Amino acid sequence: MTFQSLDLPGYLIAAIEKLSYEKPTAIQEQAIPLILEGQDLIAESQTGSGKTAAFALPVIKLLNDLPPKKNNISVQVLAIAPTRELALQVSASFKAYAQFSPNKLKVVSLIGGEPIDLQIRSLDKGADVAVATPGRLLDLIDHEEIRLSELRVLIFDEADKILDQGFSEQIDTLLENLPEERQNLLFSATLPQKVVKLSEKFLKDPSCVTIDNGQTAVDVIHQRVIEVDPGNRRLLLQHLITGEKWNYALIFVASKRAAHNLAVKLNRDGIEAEALHGDLDQSERILVLDRFKNRAFPILIATDLACRGLDIHELSYVVNYDLPRSPSDYVHRIGRTGRAGHSGTAISFIDHDTRPHFQLIEKRAGIQLGREKVEGFELSGEAPVKAKNKAPIKGKRKSKKDKLREQAKKAAK
Ligand code: AMP
Repeated sequence: MTFQSLDLPGYLIAAIEKLSYEKPTAIQEQAIPLILEGQDLIAESQTGSGKTAAFALPVIKLLNDLPPKKNNISVQVLAIAPTRELALQVSASFKAYAQFSPNKLKVVSLIGGEPIDLQIRSLDKGADVAVATPGRLLDLIDHEEIRLSELRVLIFDEADKILDQGFSEQIDTLLENLPEERQNLLFSATLPQKVVKLSEKFLKDPSCVTIDNGQTAVDVIHQRVIEVDPGNRRLLLQHLITGEKWNYALIFVASKRAAHNLAVKLNRDGIEAEALHGDLDQSERILVLDRFKNRAFPILIATDLACRGLDIHELSYVVNYDLPRSPSDYVHRIGRTGRAGHSGTAISFIDHDTRPHFQLIEKRAGIQLGREKVEGFELSGEAPVKAKNKAPIKGKRKSKKDKLREQAKKAAK
């Protein structure tokens, strides 16, 4: 299959060639024809599988084929993404794919952490494509600063994460502001029940596409699990970075403070690292991420802010320094590597306390991984036996009589 055989026009083929894409990915092969036909779509596709082009390419063609807008300040395509970084990335992809488009398309990012006035001004000038995070979008709707009366296409990217953020309640407000006649596209790496419910709310007779070609992105990732005491994790990490000569790695931790502290300590020990977390303001977040993507430094320490959708070219290692809370976040985190056909390694640190949680992640993800020990960093002690798991020893349970005897003894003392 080639991009030409998907009936994409020359100006899109030129952009694809400039990006050196040789052939469509599985999701692109399946989704593009359906979207071009104007169908609603629900697509389950692994992270890193080329989802953005799967919706952006046909949508750009649709925008070029449409008659000119009557009301030139209404947004025509609205894409909703769960994080600011992903929204910026989706905007950048739209611009890259539309660079040779005959109709010059205006793409705006509507995200928190940046001045709302500038976004309102660019909306007033007439934006064709808006890529928004939920909070900022609702702000703009509340203040009647975004016109959606001529919306043609609504896209949810990483829909499961958007719902995790509690956006489901406000979806009705959003839908009330949209015209009835529109195309709806919903993309998600996982399709839990809540996403299916959301889809029932606004998709009309959707086509479903699930990509499982046996070689999903996650399968090309070499997954390792290393047992280590929590207090030894940093030294083990440093040992791996230097010993295995890591030159491009993303380390996930559980809190902003942990991200900051770990970066400071690695730097102190001569390893160049920076932290990415929600306490940085938006311009700092963008700068750190851009510099990491451009390989200005090798090690990025991040909270789950960086777990979804972010496309970091040829990232070789992902480390779960702290385990993710949910099994689906495990898939998303490790999916930052092994993208677009490249291989990668994901390493999880576990100890006695986190072992049961990791077993749950394995069970949900349908994987079972061997445990490694690294010399000099072996896990110490025994797994604590949880009191509630202690079964009463048969024949040793005290009888009522025994208890009465004990009480009598105590009273006699
Ligand atoms: P996405 O899943 O949209 O985040 O895309 C993951 C990565 O794959 C991005 O770096 C895209 O530029 C790249 N990509 C998308 N489609 C193709 C393709 N057909 N061939 C090669 N790379 C692609």
